[in-house]
Amino acid sequence: MSKFLTPDKIRNEYGLEIKEKLIPDGSRLKPNRKLTRGRVEYVTIHNTDDINEAEGTNDAEQYARATLNGNMGGVSVHYYIDETDCWQLLREDEMGYHAADGNTGPGNGTSLAIEIIMKGDKSKDDREAEDRGAKLAAILLRKHGLAITRLKTHRDWYPKKYCPAYILPHWSEFVKKVLDYTYAMNHKGDIDMDGKVTTKDARLALRAAVGLAKLTGPQALAADTDGDGKVTTKDARAILKKSVGGDTA
Ligand SMILES: [Zn+2]
Repeated sequence: MSKFLTPDKIRNEYGLEIKEKLIPDGSRLKPNRKLTRGRVEYVTIHNTDDINEAEGTNDAEQYARATLNGNMGGVSVHYYIDETDCWQLLREDEMGYHAADGNTGPGNGTSLAIEIIMKGDKSKDDREAEDRGAKLAAILLRKHGLAITRLKTHRDWYPKKYCPAYILPHWSEFVKKVLDYTYAMNHKGDIDMDGKVTTKDARLALRAAVGLAKLTGPQALAADTDGDGKVTTKDARAILKKSVGGDTA
């Protein structure tokens, strides 16, 4: 048996692979309480530090495993995400302990927690982890019908804690990224995000498909019309069709 976690379920949301390994109900490792008003009202962004990776695994798996092994000191979060992996530990209708405001505080009581694992060294891995965290935030906001104003930092709930430490210095950029992801989910094909799907978008998709152009994360999501997680010539054709009015979808 592998010493690493095996997910109970793997799902794909907008090209983001999410591995589920939920903390069992009744476990002392989580509050075992529903969100205060029975629904998700906010999404909270945290940063936690990159840790040395054992051969064959990654940070997100290591944090998820540490939680399930009882080594996280009572902290429980909904999602751990890094540059390659994403693990879910709590259902989206239940509370975690992540905001340091107890059982009745609004941080724990009303929000889903995303821990984005970073080093704070502005490396490619950090940028990718942050980008994937923004995408996950956009997915959760959209799924629960929440406006961008419902995206919070840990510090919003608990001012003494400077968290997410590596994102707070450029928080408005992060918010913009979440908005771009949301736009891409709602406007498939509009890669340049100018409000319409044109042959220019089709050309961009084609160039990306053959490796001549590099798209940002939100652009790649807008380009991925069939949702298979890749930008291919098939997407370029679908966008071209849409641009000439052959498809109103
Ligand atoms: Zn935090």
